[in-house]
Amino acid sequence: MANRTIFILLFIVIFSVSIEAKNILKSISLESGKVALHFKKEIRGKDFRATAAKSKAVTKYVFDFKNCYLGGGAKSLYNLKGSLKSIRVAQYKKDTVRVVIDSKKSYNVKYYQKNSPTFYITVPKGVSLIKKSSNKKSRESVKKSNLKSSPKELFNYVNGDEGSSSASSEKYSVNLKHNYTIMVDAGHGGKDSGTCWGSEKEKKIVLAIAKRVYRKLRTLGFKVKMTRARDHYITLNGRIKRANRDNADLFISIHANAVSDKSRVNVARGVETYFLQNTRNARAKRVAAKENAAMLKSMDSTTKAVLINTVFTGPKIQLSHRLGLDVQKEILKSLRARYKGVKDGGVRGAPFYVLVGAEMPAILVEVGYLSNPKERDRLRSAKYQNRLAEGIVRGVINYLKNREREME
Ligand SMILES: [Zn+2]
Repeated sequence: MANRTIFILLFIVIFSVSIEAKNILKSISLESGKVALHFKKEIRGKDFRATAAKSKAVTKYVFDFKNCYLGGGAKSLYNLKGSLKSIRVAQYKKDTVRVVIDSKKSYNVKYYQKNSPTFYITVPKGVSLIKKSSNKKSRESVKKSNLKSSPKELFNYVNGDEGSSSASSEKYSVNLKHNYTIMVDAGHGGKDSGTCWGSEKEKKIVLAIAKRVYRKLRTLGFKVKMTRARDHYITLNGRIKRANRDNADLFISIHANAVSDKSRVNVARGVETYFLQNTRNARAKRVAAKENAAMLKSMDSTTKAVLINTVFTGPKIQLSHRLGLDVQKEILKSLRARYKGVKDGGVRGAPFYVLVGAEMPAILVEVGYLSNPKERDRLRSAKYQNRLAEGIVRGVINYLKNREREME
């Protein structure tokens, strides 16, 4: 009897935990200029994806919400008057709700969520509901909705963060023509802690920042991958191999700095961005040597020589340099909007092995000095990490926009 009671209690606990983890799309309403999706709780960045597909007759804006279920209050079809045809809603996969906006022509769609469980998608002026809505017909058509055609349409995103912990109210927009894959590399991991200062470990801080970058880019519709999402060891060339294999368009490695000279802990500070190039600059060399240490330990001198000779002439140097300039600029802008005394450590070429062999523009960001007391405190804080991540994301977007403009 006692056993049975425990079993039932356990069942109830497990059941309520799993219910707790799920989000529900409770209902949908059309407000002036926007569609409001009323969820039970806020959408996490990693649970959300937006794509667009254009055919001759219609542009489809598709919004997928993972770990989410359809509640009773949401209809499956809303017929519309004006330049939109309809909004369709379905349980697209077992755990994914899909919302499709069918538009007669492309428009500049924006979507956002402002620290509440309501997710907004903008609609053009003059769109209104045709009252008679069917509840059956469209379920199948949503499922069949063909998304394989390349997403050409442009998305705008308002309110920088995915709505989780950030109070950021910055606005920016993404108007990119292509789908890009970004490889986000959190430095070190596992047995390699990177720079340590007291109890603070580089591997931990850079992973936290990398995850923020990942989530932000995902929310914006990018394809994003991480070389590591937890505390484990990867070799330096394992990281770039993964980026090459996944055909990443950009590679962003995130690290934190430190000086070993105790007399300089208050002086050495700031953000530095590096791309792969040989250099005579002593400081750049020093930073590279520090980051390379883990890899060089396990490499014989012939391999080192081969590496060095193949690296520094690649066509990607110039593009990496420009990516570095864009990212550095946006990081500084983002940090300085909230923090005083953020130092610009500049953009430089340096022989970082983690960037060796990259088939795409690749940079390494040293987000700050753990050896500097003030910067260490900042780097530990979620707000500062968020600002850093936002800067990196904006830098990436600006870089890609500029490249697209040049290709036109
Ligand atoms: Zn590092």
